[in-house]
Formats: sequence, C-alpha cells, structure tokens
Amino acid sequence: MNKLILKPGREKSLKRRHPWVFSGAVAKLTGEPVAGETIEICSSEGEFLAMAACNPQSQIVGRVWDWRRGEIDAAFFLARIHRAVALRARLVPAHDAVRLVHAESDGLPGVVIDRYGETVVMQLSSAGAMRWREAIADAVMAVVKPVTLYERSDADVLALEGLQPSVGLLRGTPPPSPVVVNESGAMFEVDVPHGHKTGFYLDQRANRWRVRELAAQCEVLDCFAYTGGFTVNALVGGAANVTAIDSSGPALELLKHNVALNGLPGAECIEGDVFQLLRKLRDQARSFDLIVLDPPKFAPTAAHAEKASRAYKDINLLAFKLLRAGGLLVTFSCSGGVSRDLFQKIVAGAALDAGVDAQIVEQLSPGADHPVALNFPEGDYLKGLICRVAGAKQP
Ligand code: SAH
Repeated sequence: MNKLILKPGREKSLKRRHPWVFSGAVAKLTGEPVAGETIEICSSEGEFLAMAACNPQSQIVGRVWDWRRGEIDAAFFLARIHRAVALRARLVPAHDAVRLVHAESDGLPGVVIDRYGETVVMQLSSAGAMRWREAIADAVMAVVKPVTLYERSDADVLALEGLQPSVGLLRGTPPPSPVVVNESGAMFEVDVPHGHKTGFYLDQRANRWRVRELAAQCEVLDCFAYTGGFTVNALVGGAANVTAIDSSGPALELLKHNVALNGLPGAECIEGDVFQLLRKLRDQARSFDLIVLDPPKFAPTAAHAEKASRAYKDINLLAFKLLRAGGLLVTFSCSGGVSRDLFQKIVAGAALDAGVDAQIVEQLSPGADHPVALNFPEGDYLKGLICRVAGAKQP
C-alpha cells in the first residue's frame, strides 16, 4: 500500500484526529497513488497515523477514513452508514426529510446522503468518496432500502478536486416527479434533479419551525427565500403577510407552488438581488416585524472572511433599519470561514451602525441530523441568531 509521509512536526493535527492532510504538510508520497486510492498516513518517524483517501490533485491530499490500520472495503462503508442512520433513527425519528450522512462529522469525508421520504439523494465531493461510489450506493440500499437512490455529485468543489460531476439514477426506480416531503406538517416539493445541493436545505428544519412559532400576526420579510422554507412556515404560523426575495426565478416559482400546496394565502415575491432590494425597501419606508436573512455561503474558507464580513454587515444593517421596534431579526451565516464569534461581532456592528438597540434572544444551529464531530470544528458551519430590536430607533 502506498504511504503519505508527513513533514516533521506535522502529525499534530492528525493526533488530535483532524481528518485532513493539506499539501503543505506532505514530505513524500510513495509510489504514484491515483486520485481516491487508499493510503496509509505516517509521521516523519514512520509511525502509523491513519488510513486515508489520497488525492494528489487537491489541496487536501489526504482525507482520513479510519484511525485504525485495516481494510477500507465495502464492509467499512456498510458499518459507517449503518452507524449514521442509527443516529438519526434515535435522534430525529419523526422526520421523513433528513440528512442521513453528514460527511466528515459522520466519519465519511466527501459523502452527503439526504433522505426525502422514499427517495435518497447522494452527493459525493471527494476523490475517495467517488472511488467507493458503488460500495456506498450498495450500503445505502442495504441499510435504508429506499425506492430510489439518485446521485447529485455536482457541487462546485468538485473542480478543486479535479473531479467530473456525476448526476443521475444510481439504484431503484427514477424519482417521482415531483418529490413531495412533509416537514413538520408542511408540504414541500423538492426538485431532486435540479434544485440546490440535493434539492432542499435540510439544515434549516428546526429554525424554520422556530420561525413558524414566532411569526403569528407578523409582517415578515424572507430574504434569500429559495423555495419557501421560511415563507411557508411563517404563513403556517399565522403571519399577517410575507414578502419573499430571491435572485432565482425558478426558486420563486416553486416557492409560490409550495405556498399553494399548503392552501396558504399567497406571498409577495420579489425576484432580484437582496443587497439592492433591501435598499429599495428602505427608500420606500417599508417596515417589518420579522426578517429572515439566510444568504448563501459568502466565505467558503477563512481566506474569504473579510470580504464576507462586509457583505454580512451590509445586509444585517439594512435589515435592522427595516425592523419595527420590538421586531425580530433571524439571521444566519452558513460560511465555514466565519466563526460564531465573528458572526456575532458582525451583527453587533450592524446594529450599532443602524442605530438600534438589540439583544440576542436565541442562538441557532442545525438539527441533530447535522452533527459536528468534535475533532472537526469546520462541521459547525451554520450559525444563526435571533435578535430583538428593543426600543424606538435613535435618530
Ligand atoms: N432559506 C432557504 C434557503 C436559502 S439558500 C430555505 O430555508 O430553504 C440561498 C438562496 O439565496 C438561494 O435560493 C439563492 O438563489 C439565493 N441568492 C443568492 N444570492 C442572492 C442575492 N444576492 N440576492 C437574492 N438571492 C440570492
């Protein structure tokens, strides 16, 4: 078996069980491992550290499969997927739309598996995961027994890994058109072949529920609304009305459809750029009781944090200005490169510059189907705050 030998002193993060080896830490690769090949990682002294998938074309040359020496084979993937699925059965048993495998945090780097009722969608994003595609698919069929297993391995990160996208039916029958899921009693159509990620943002399930609880009688503004996750929940919760903004026309079409599917009164949909539209709403002297800001990832890594901070500050500042006294801002960052601490500082700066006095009344995270492995803090990507604007605005 080929080996990846680290530079002296570079074994520290692996000893803390961080599952990535960056190219700068590598002294030598023995042989010429192909992308996805299983290798052994060793310290400069020759000590065995882990079994990993190698990708010589990536910045992340090694992604750890196992800390013990042993076979990485079909039985390994079956055991890991079994373990991940059992965790969901224990912690989120009541939901039929759940994340079954959350990559590194479930011990499977590059492997995301989401369940939408009888349809399971698999998204692979590393060479190692691609190498084991068939074994992973067989394991999902054996453990979950879905009617459909569909692949959506078309994330942008594939290019950084030197990998080709792969999309289509893997096992079973083609997905129903449309796939409909029941999330906490609300129905959503999910566009599995063409939607974002695997079709739906499962990581916001608990937070959408929270918005449902808080929205009664509120005039709500849902920014970055996608297919209406927050909009539908606000309407179910008795919102007086909802204005939804997204730059994607097809997403807003599906939003309208999802609102109708639940027999709810329509939402006002505005197609366009949130940065511009928040300014326009301000100029029109519009105001709201509850505003949701759920933007896409502005900072994939810490290197983008500064530019991202400006973008987060801008939208949060404008949102604070649009809130009535006593109003609620439900604001998120799903950027791995922006920590909870930094996000809170950005939001605090936005409130200050908006001239509002606000409190954090709640900290938000994804649900238990998006665990964060303690050895992989990058898994804690989605953070949210509910802020309440206190008194009257200062001049
Ligand atoms: N809140 C949604 C998920 C939002 S995903 C849910 O719970 O399902 C982010 C959304 O932001 C995507 O739909 C994308 O089309 C949209 N988007 C990205 N940049 C935008 C921009 N500058 N202005 C408006 N929408 C944008």
